[in-house]
Amino acid sequence: MSESEDRVPTGLPTHIRHFIDGNFVDSLSGATFDVLDPVTNEIYATAAAGRAEDIDLAVTAATRAFTDGPWPRLRPRERARVLVRVADAVEAQDSRLAELETFDTGLPIRQALGQAQRAAENFRFFADLIVAQTDDAYKVPGSQLNYVNRKPVGVAGLITPWNTPFMLESWKLAPALASGCTVVLKPAEFTPLSASLWADIFREAGLPDGVFNLVNGLGEEAGDALVRHPDVPLISFTGESSTGQLIFANAAPNLKGLSMELGGKSPAIVFADADLEAAIDSTLFGVFSLNGERCTAGSRILVERSIYDDFCARYAARASNIVVGAPHDPATEVGALVHPEHFAKVMAYIEIGRNEGRLLAGGGRPENLPDGNYVSPTVFADVAPNARIFQEEIFGPVVTVTPFDTDEEALELANGVRYGLAAYLWTTDLVRAHTFAQNIDAGMVWLNSHNVRDLRTPFGGVKASGLGHEGGYRSIDFYTNQQAVHITL
Ligand code: NAD
Repeated sequence: MSESEDRVPTGLPTHIRHFIDGNFVDSLSGATFDVLDPVTNEIYATAAAGRAEDIDLAVTAATRAFTDGPWPRLRPRERARVLVRVADAVEAQDSRLAELETFDTGLPIRQALGQAQRAAENFRFFADLIVAQTDDAYKVPGSQLNYVNRKPVGVAGLITPWNTPFMLESWKLAPALASGCTVVLKPAEFTPLSASLWADIFREAGLPDGVFNLVNGLGEEAGDALVRHPDVPLISFTGESSTGQLIFANAAPNLKGLSMELGGKSPAIVFADADLEAAIDSTLFGVFSLNGERCTAGSRILVERSIYDDFCARYAARASNIVVGAPHDPATEVGALVHPEHFAKVMAYIEIGRNEGRLLAGGGRPENLPDGNYVSPTVFADVAPNARIFQEEIFGPVVTVTPFDTDEEALELANGVRYGLAAYLWTTDLVRAHTFAQNIDAGMVWLNSHNVRDLRTPFGGVKASGLGHEGGYRSIDFYTNQQAVHITL
């Protein structure tokens, strides 16, 4: 079998449909959009292009399942059993999921496998959490009892991006379903393939019809219709900050609950007293894993001047050795970017970077990969804080390196962008680490560590990186209303 045949998964669909009220269906209009293979940029499938009328059908089904169906009324333990069966099913087919996700997104296969396993873990985690959920009760002795009656909000609108799509969908689906909501998912139009797998997984796990609904389509059509639908009381959105702003405005007339997980331009700050080997390993992983298409990418490295030259030389040498190649090859560390439009955007930033920094590694397409959306890991040093490549989210394998002299300057540089999603600090001085962490504008801070987190912790950004927090009980809070009941004794 040739390499190109080997990389195309068997049983790949040529058409991807919506899933509404327990049935796979096409758009009422018959409209479709093309789905591209990021290695060849050829069309490998069409997908149903949902519009307002398809969203309306899905919302009607989800509303009926919420109002008349068993799901919101099941005991948490019963819902948890379904969620655990979903987790088991995802885990049992993790290789297949990874194969499809890699084909659809261009992510390296080994990393896609990790994301499939993470998706299973999200379902297992929220199954456990909903069973362990307790609510507050306050007794005023001799006079009053006050308690919280938690209720699922209703039909949850879930809008997801194309980076690690299956895992990010699970991060919303699992808590929404655990809470007793019914859902309409609108996945990203670049990557509809893995989302279509949820339908059978849920059906086999025993989720009642109408609880999970999926409508494919463009953001400005299907996504917008979901945001504006009067019977959808909340939207959980992950995507670009500018899209988040638009959704915020479009959801306003119906006063919806909003959870916004948006863009980032996260700093990784390396002090002279850091374990340099560990810092280099982690800052390479931080921006080049997942093709750099990662919201929490540490895409701005700030380095104390006394180790700056040494850091730059070692970092660039390591970046130049990263294996860029076919996503399905287990040796690949950076695969193909998701789509030619995104590839063009990343390449345009690299051209801008040539005038804004000193190119140390990469700088465009690898010579041995003339086709497909391949970009070499690219490192620009000496980048000033007013540079566009320092300020703007590139969302690809491109990193800036900037020197600093003092802690104050490092903090100013770290905070000097509109985003505030994550930050990574490398220092062996504990007091400095904690002081810095507490002063930095970031929703999440990693001290001397990789981007790994406990699912109970809050996930979310500040400034242009988001509104609200997901993770652990915060997700359950978002998908439920907490009614206060007061009884005079
Ligand atoms: P995007 O904003 O272009 O699209 C995200 C989703 O929104 C897609 O499903 C799209 O169809 C939909 N959409 C677009 N316009 C819409 C509209 N007007 N109304 C309703 N829906 C609309 O983002 P993307 O390019 O798919 O994803 C990359 C972005 O996501 C990056 O900025 C990245 O940082 C961010 N991201 C953030 C997190 C986080 O947790 N903070 C996680 C992953 C990705």
